[in-house]
Amino acid sequence: MMNLGEIVGGAAAAALFGFGAWHVARGIFALRGTRLVTCPETGRPVAVDLDLRYSAVRSAFGRPHFRLKDCTRWPERAGCGQTCLGELEAAPHDCLVRTILAQWYAGKRCAFCRREFGEIQWHDHKPALLGADGITREWADFPAETIPAVLETHRPVCWNCHVAETFRRVHADLVVERPPRPSAQA
Ligand SMILES: [Zn+2]
Repeated sequence: MMNLGEIVGGAAAAALFGFGAWHVARGIFALRGTRLVTCPETGRPVAVDLDLRYSAVRSAFGRPHFRLKDCTRWPERAGCGQTCLGELEAAPHDCLVRTILAQWYAGKRCAFCRREFGEIQWHDHKPALLGADGITREWADFPAETIPAVLETHRPVCWNCHVAETFRRVHADLVVERPPRPSAQA
């Protein structure tokens, strides 16, 4: 039979384990998402995904200590030594593609309707990008590692205008530009 000390000790250990598990789970949640870093080998952006479980467990009660699960230069450079991790560990939130996009849209206005962008809805009605060719595209259409260059050459477009412009482009035969009514003319 367990004595009181064993019961209390067991309960404390269970509580500690539960807290640790919760802390790691919170870490995994915070570390999700594709991140952009500058590859130290090439000096160019690469998109990376963290090994979530390893990174969350190693970072749960101390300084960030990450490991990669994937990189756009892999598998060719899979043995690269992951020297980009310093940049990631120093500012994990700032490297998130979502953060980079949110900062870019913040304070900007839609190239068509001039409406200012508010908080971005990531699950639906995402804003889009207008290229020099006049075509609007969703940023998810671009490889993540090209996002920094894409943002340099594109203008921001709201979801409504992206949908309208796409419809106009794809169904040009259905869109009728109405001439002004005779009575409206002087
Ligand atoms: Zn718009």
